[in-house]
Amino acid sequence: MDLETMNDLTINTAIDYALPSAFAGRHLIDGKWVESTETFDRVSPSHGSVVSVSAKGDAAVTEQAILAARRAYDAGVWSRISGKERAAVLLRVADLIEANVERIAVQETLESGKPISQARGEVGGAADLWRYAASLARTTHGDSHNTLGDNMLGVVVKEPVGVVSIITPWNFPFWILSQKLPFALAAGCTVVVKPSEMTPSSTVMMGELLMEAGLPAGVCNIVLGYGEPVGSLMSTHSDVDMVTFTGSTAVGKLITQSASATLKKVALELGGKNPQVIFPDADLESAADAVTFGVYFNVGQCCNSSSRIIVHEDIADAFVARVVALSKQVKFGDPLDPSTQVGAIVTPEHNAKIDGYVQAAIAAGAKLELGGGALSVDGLGRQFYQPTIISHVTPDMAVAREEVFGPVLSVLTFRTLDEAIALTNDSNYGLSAGVWSENVHTCLEFARRAEAGTVWTNTWMDGYPELAFGGVKQSGQGREIGRYGFDEFLEVKSMVMRIGRSRAPWVEACA
Ligand code: NAD
Repeated sequence: MDLETMNDLTINTAIDYALPSAFAGRHLIDGKWVESTETFDRVSPSHGSVVSVSAKGDAAVTEQAILAARRAYDAGVWSRISGKERAAVLLRVADLIEANVERIAVQETLESGKPISQARGEVGGAADLWRYAASLARTTHGDSHNTLGDNMLGVVVKEPVGVVSIITPWNFPFWILSQKLPFALAAGCTVVVKPSEMTPSSTVMMGELLMEAGLPAGVCNIVLGYGEPVGSLMSTHSDVDMVTFTGSTAVGKLITQSASATLKKVALELGGKNPQVIFPDADLESAADAVTFGVYFNVGQCCNSSSRIIVHEDIADAFVARVVALSKQVKFGDPLDPSTQVGAIVTPEHNAKIDGYVQAAIAAGAKLELGGGALSVDGLGRQFYQPTIISHVTPDMAVAREEVFGPVLSVLTFRTLDEAIALTNDSNYGLSAGVWSENVHTCLEFARRAEAGTVWTNTWMDGYPELAFGGVKQSGQGREIGRYGFDEFLEVKSMVMRIGRSRAPWVEACA
């Protein structure tokens, strides 16, 4: 590891590392790997070389994948076997994930630009989602109604939704796939998966593990390629019963429109503009550390990024100084260096977009406290962005309202709890929010009034397979993981049964 400082920042320059040869990605259809004459490349955001060459899906191959999922579903090879048998496959997948962490994590780092330590955590941690989903496969049940009268019995059963399209983004490709796929499979659904065109390989590797674990052919199909035509056909096709999508709010709205022609069920995990609110009585050291983590984790390319803080006026200057000092110690740079905490930006275009938000805020009167430009890492290039903190941000500025998706923190201030809550809720988004105070009443009142799918008190971004995740307002619809997330992949059927021949005739018999 070679540390150098630039503008007081801590930069990890390039380490010596022999990159693996470019991964060759193929579609998985009906249990078979399918190549394509047309391919697309992924250039590593950090290393600038081609790290994967993937089969490029068209409408024909997408149709084949959907029909394979439909046939497998209708044949009952997965949907009608016992929960115990489904759980056994999911548990084998979890073991295989753990045995393959390094290979998947290196590829994910090269395609996404995220630090290897984080990729290892993301891939290894995903095994727990598979194990939790396996437990649901065995324990799910409906309910019975024995109080409808002596001659009636009602039984409410849960059944798989059917064929599910799973469309995922580039920022946590393996984790987000694992927030959806094992739950859909646990429910008995069959699926077609489309990973982001920027990070296709870890999904293909998942396909390899599924085959090795003994998942029947056709139950999970994977098509590589772009939103058009692959994602859009997966959202319109009449043989698909549900679309679950994680990505931008703009594409989420398109998918809702596409799916409406056939009234498919739609579950959406979209963007966020998540605040952490800091009261003067908080443990300010812990709060500053959590704010630093919240804004730089995954270079801020995270739906849960706490890209704005709302801090009490009396402590704002001191708190910002503390976060600036911590920001200078965060290790930015070569994602393959195990000590790196923040890696590269996904594309050059996105780097320019982040900078656009920062420059517009400064031009509108905000104050740059740290950073504010692209970052050059010796031996790797300029597809990085400096840790950036902007104070004197007003609620109307784009940097305070829109998802910047970069390592950029906007600082707003408040005087009263009501003001803090009003600023929190003054957003089109409602994914997550956080509050820092040693006063339990402050925390509880904030937690109840914040418009968000998740509220963290005195912590940030902790998650568990047991706890539902999702957003309100334009952050999405439906929930993922936990029991509620699992329920998204189930339909409820009421079976109403008469006991004995006691039904009074509707038609009077003619004498
Ligand atoms: P994106 O919307 O550009 O792409 C997501 C996926 O949709 C990709 O696979 C893409 O190929 C596909 N797609 C594009 N156009 C499509 C279309 N017309 N029909 C169907 N599919 C189409 O998002 P992204 O840039 O990959 O990811 C970043 C976004 O994801 C951010 O807004 C972020 O907040 C959001 N995100 C949300 C969560 C969450 O859980 N709420 C988690 C991670 C990321």
